[in-house]
Amino acid sequence: MTSTKKVGSTGRFGVRYGLTVRQKVLAIEKRQKMCYECPSCSKTAVKRVAKGIWACNKCSHKFTGKAFYLGE
Ligand SMILES: [Zn+2]
Repeated sequence: MTSTKKVGSTGRFGVRYGLTVRQKVLAIEKRQKMCYECPSCSKTAVKRVAKGIWACNKCSHKFTGKAFYLGE
């Protein structure tokens, strides 16, 4: 796994993609894995469950939002 350490989860794309592209994708994927504040219970437990759909782990509140990440 040493060769994929630098680019993290994007290592699977291999060398077909440039390092810059992979770093950009990595930044987006990191945002996707982040938790966001729930508009219902205010806990930071909201995760993207599908494209444009977000769900709170604490109160199970589901809502639609931006396709890839919240907060921008
Ligand atoms: Zn909630």
